[in-house]
Amino acid sequence: MGKVTGFMEYERVEEGYEPAPTRLKHYKEFVIGLKEEDARVQGARCMDCGIPFCNSGCPVNNIIPDFNDLVYRNEWRSAIEVLHSTNNFPEFTGRICPAPCEAACTLNFNDEPVGIKSLERAIIDRAWAEGWVDAQPPKFKTGKKVAVVGSGPAGLAAAQQLARVGHDVTVFEKNDRIGGLLRYGIPDFKMEKSHIDRRIKQMEAEGVQFRTGVLVGKLPEGSKVTNWAKETISAEQLAQEFDAVLLAGGAEQPRDLPAPGRELAGVHFAMEFLPQQNKVNAGDKLKDQIRADGKHVIVIGGGDTGSDCVGTSNRHGAKSVTQFELMPMPPEQENKALTWPYWPYRLRTSSSHEEGCEREFAIATKEFIGENGKVTGIRTARVEWKDGKMVEVPGSEQVLKADLVLLAMGFVSPVASVLDAFGVDKDARGNARASTDFLGGYQTSVAKVFAAGDVRRGQSLVVWAIREGRQAARSIDEFLMGTSELPR
Ligand SMILES: Cc1cc2nc3c(=O)[nH]c(=O)nc-3n(C[C@H](O)[C@H](O)[C@H](O)COP(=O)(O)OP(=O)(O)OC[C@H]3O[C@@H](n4cnc5c(N)ncnc54)[C@H](O)[C@@H]3O)c2cc1C
Ligand code: SF4
Repeated sequence: MGKVTGFMEYERVEEGYEPAPTRLKHYKEFVIGLKEEDARVQGARCMDCGIPFCNSGCPVNNIIPDFNDLVYRNEWRSAIEVLHSTNNFPEFTGRICPAPCEAACTLNFNDEPVGIKSLERAIIDRAWAEGWVDAQPPKFKTGKKVAVVGSGPAGLAAAQQLARVGHDVTVFEKNDRIGGLLRYGIPDFKMEKSHIDRRIKQMEAEGVQFRTGVLVGKLPEGSKVTNWAKETISAEQLAQEFDAVLLAGGAEQPRDLPAPGRELAGVHFAMEFLPQQNKVNAGDKLKDQIRADGKHVIVIGGGDTGSDCVGTSNRHGAKSVTQFELMPMPPEQENKALTWPYWPYRLRTSSSHEEGCEREFAIATKEFIGENGKVTGIRTARVEWKDGKMVEVPGSEQVLKADLVLLAMGFVSPVASVLDAFGVDKDARGNARASTDFLGGYQTSVAKVFAAGDVRRGQSLVVWAIREGRQAARSIDEFLMGTSELPR
């Protein structure tokens, strides 16, 4: 906890934001982190609430009351040690985590939770600035070789943990840069990529080898999944060369909308659109970038990916941006007595929405309309739910203008052919089947093949991927050595 009476004395301090008109002119981060004094006030607000629900609300179980207290006491170096003891990459989560910990904070009863996420960011940003984040190479080598397939947060967290206990870890990534969706999904304005590059250097110094442009297994013909691989390695080859393999390839199969006119030019998956802008930001030259300039853009899908398409389209200079959500508009305020300390179902307005976006709820897409092979509009209908079933509202059809349509309705599963190449069992949703049990967790049905992150749990969050990567690393270490000192 922080100061005993802090929660009564101080109000929640929010991070600052560059105003929308200026931040729309660039792709850089625009959230302004807490100043040291504000962070200390924030830490002081943590109360002695007895059971720290925040700690179990956080998927990596960050020891939140302890670091709140340490910041309040100006003991920043100890604060980063506490933070790193549960989270390999707090600069990622301190920027892009939706912060379920704050929903679980006791002060959230008054809608004024401790700004835990902003403190997390303040601690790690200061630690990097002060030079407190060192490489931790292992004291001895085990001689065991581990292959990690996929370099998203799950693969990176696992690779770092495994290298630190002395295994020879190689990370295989089909794309041209390391980072998974951190690199090629999440826009730079939410998280700049220098944060990943810095960690790659640290991990290389700890002994991790990175191999980009290498596809493990195969993708189906015509797959729209990002793939800039220049070489392929078979699942058998990997299994032969390594003592253990961790599948951490994410859940990349996008959900399609097979309405009439889907084949028209100008209708794209979000993950065809977003990675291109991140590549351009990284200095790559693209021949045919999908651009929103001067266009009426419709984003289908009301989640995070959709919101990122909104922010990117506005930065391109779209004429209008509209986002569709099939479900009705959620309530603006949750009923705390029913939801706390869990993640509440309520309307969420992102910074991208605030930059300019019409949001349409309870709306279905019936047809993509086009001229000369190009999309020009969408025929829609209003829907409502009766007895749990979606029904169209009679007479509600209308046509909305659209020159660019972005499909952001989430991801169905991992790409099946990659799992099939390894022959691992799948669950009913097509994810790699593996339990999270304390003993033998994360093991698939195939000997020495493990799975963690979105490939195992389905489309989720960065913080869950980090948790699974850490836990899978412990399980692999136990499998290789008979015992493990890695935390779970
Ligand atoms: C647009 C977008 C925005 C998001 N925003 C947020 C957010 O703000 N906050 C948040 O917490 N979460 C967000 N998420 C979700 C989050 O990014 C994912 O849950 C998380 O990245 C999953 O991590 P992962 O390591 O399991 O897989 P991924 O990050 O998907 O990484 C998997 C990697 O494996 C590689 N790979 C796959 N198959 C192979 C193969 N056969 N051979 C070689 N390499 C392979 C892929 O190329 C990819 O790089 C967002 C997702 C998207 C799409
Ligand atoms: S990782 Fe997410 S849930 Fe955990 S403390 Fe940080 S912001 Fe909260």
